[in-house]
Amino acid sequence: MNTVHDNLLAIKNKIQKIALECDRDPNTIELIAVSKTKPVEQITEAINAGQISFGENYVQEGVEKINYFKQALPDTPLIWHFIGPLQSNKSKLVAENFDWMHTIDRFKIAQRLNDQRPTHMAKLNVLIQVNISQEMSKSGVSPSDVTDLVKQVINLPNLSLRGLMAIPEIENDFNKQLNVFRQMQQLLYSLQADYPFMDTLSMGMTGDMQAAIVAGSTMVRIGTAIFGARQYL
Ligand SMILES: *Cc1c(COP(=O)(O)O)cnc(C)c1O
Repeated sequence: MNTVHDNLLAIKNKIQKIALECDRDPNTIELIAVSKTKPVEQITEAINAGQISFGENYVQEGVEKINYFKQALPDTPLIWHFIGPLQSNKSKLVAENFDWMHTIDRFKIAQRLNDQRPTHMAKLNVLIQVNISQEMSKSGVSPSDVTDLVKQVINLPNLSLRGLMAIPEIENDFNKQLNVFRQMQQLLYSLQADYPFMDTLSMGMTGDMQAAIVAGSTMVRIGTAIFGARQYL
């Protein structure tokens, strides 16, 4: 079995290769290691291999890991991304512990995070989640409602609106993946005319990373290819 260290190296090489093939600077693509369900031992392996950005989906689990590493590695600055759906009664834990929040899908949650962000902390970086495949079951705002939400979120002083995030419907065909990610890219382009500080596109997972990078992703969220398959209880 490959180690986390080897897997990280392989993914970084892959990102670099894809970026160069589509004339992008590999340094403009950040790798987020999605560590949900994975133990702190595996995260430690990733840290020892130089990884500093991690993504977590479940609030409680994420906060436990953040606190663990504050104690265990107080001198290693890590960056924690909340990438799961958030119930409003758990927003305080995200506001108090995470550096990024990728799944803003309504003003109410943004407002709560703003009000609950401790003043001694840096602004919470936030992304608006777009329901780009227009699936009934998935969260995220529909593309036509994004601009209205942007206009509201930029008024919140403790949040820094950085861009958009999407989890498209699972699709194995590269061209179909690309087509959906291109819609995200266009959406961000059109917003950047008025909101140039929106510089981030969080898209691409183990199964669709290549298409996401070709379509301009600046943050890929990779779990399986780094930590192996997840087991759910
Ligand atoms: C689990 C998850 C990932 C990582 O998916 P892999 O297919 O394991 O790379 C990325 N983003 C989100 C929002 C996730 O929930």
